[in-house]
Amino acid sequence: MIQRRKTRQVTVGDTAHGIVRIGGDAPVSVQTMTSGYTHEIDKCVAEIHKLAAAGADLVRVAVPEKKDTQALKEILPQVKVPIVADVHFHFQRALEAIEAGVHKIRLNPGNINDRAQVREVIQACKQRKLPIRVGVNEGSIVERRDKQRRLQELERVFSDNKHGALIALMITKLEEYIELFQEEDFHDIVISAKSIDPIVVIDVYREISKRFDYPLHLGVTHAGPKETGTIRSVVPLGHLLCSGIGDTIRISYANDPVYEVQDGLEMLYCLGLRTRTGAELIACPTCGRIQVDLFKLVQDVRKALAEEIHLPIKVAVMGCVVNGPGECEGADVAIFAGDRRGIIYVQGEKVANVPEEEILERLLAECRAFQDRVIRGEAKLGQKAVKVLLPVIQ
Ligand code: SF4
Repeated sequence: MIQRRKTRQVTVGDTAHGIVRIGGDAPVSVQTMTSGYTHEIDKCVAEIHKLAAAGADLVRVAVPEKKDTQALKEILPQVKVPIVADVHFHFQRALEAIEAGVHKIRLNPGNINDRAQVREVIQACKQRKLPIRVGVNEGSIVERRDKQRRLQELERVFSDNKHGALIALMITKLEEYIELFQEEDFHDIVISAKSIDPIVVIDVYREISKRFDYPLHLGVTHAGPKETGTIRSVVPLGHLLCSGIGDTIRISYANDPVYEVQDGLEMLYCLGLRTRTGAELIACPTCGRIQVDLFKLVQDVRKALAEEIHLPIKVAVMGCVVNGPGECEGADVAIFAGDRRGIIYVQGEKVANVPEEEILERLLAECRAFQDRVIRGEAKLGQKAVKVLLPVIQ
């Protein structure tokens, strides 16, 4: 069990869009961001629906122009998930988004030069009880002279760290921003401090978690394509979450944001920080003993399970008898291949032996039937299976 660091809690959303709590004892939430233009209303609504269906707890939209904040008035009544407005440079966009009924603001105070304007946004959020994510990104922090002494002080603290200067700068900026919010007696804050370097992400969030009790939004900025961004994101986020640090996450890819949601949730399931809602798929990597076209089968099974199975049923797809029977024992529904055939088990009991071309259909039928039995109370998930005997191919 991961012991999570205790943070303050903020509340995002309303009854029409769902309420998400971040921090305190709330489960770690998964965020993502739309990839299209917010002012293209129909496309934006469709993308938000898709991301919510994938499991996003919060969806962020960029509002660089007035036409984007105006679009929010039409978007918000059509969606069922809390929406965060991402504001850079123009404080008016934040005020317009708040007026439109958005549920949270993401602000980088470093991108708004006039402090009075930031205070105006804080007061508008305070009146409507909206939280603000205060974020610093490695790419957007600029040193300010008046904080030089504090910066030098922190640079000395982190002088042994290869990235000490950057960490010191990020913390200095955060302290400066948070001071502004505290002066306004505003505490519905979520903090982020993202870097492109996974090690900096680990180090900076560890330091922030020692200094503030506000909930933390974890992420690696500009993590790149999914193919490499997965590892780049999961290494630091997994490390921090295992240490109990982090209250909400966003994995960011140069790809369809649905993948960000799917991978973020899978990481939280693996860490036991969220309860799985759909099927868990186990599959072997294949080797020279392979007996069927397993890669295709696994992808077909994965897609079908995502659409049809809504309980955390454990499904195993294995390429031969070497590890197949072992996995069959541990899975609710399983298939292992032998001699271009598939032997299918349900909770350790052999139910079918079918030719390769019938494996997919039969496996899914067994998954659906098992799900129905669980719903009717006739079977239990994860029930200890009966020992599978070898050899079993008949
Ligand atoms: S289950 Fe069989 S095919 Fe798959 S990796 Fe193991 S030995 Fe190879």
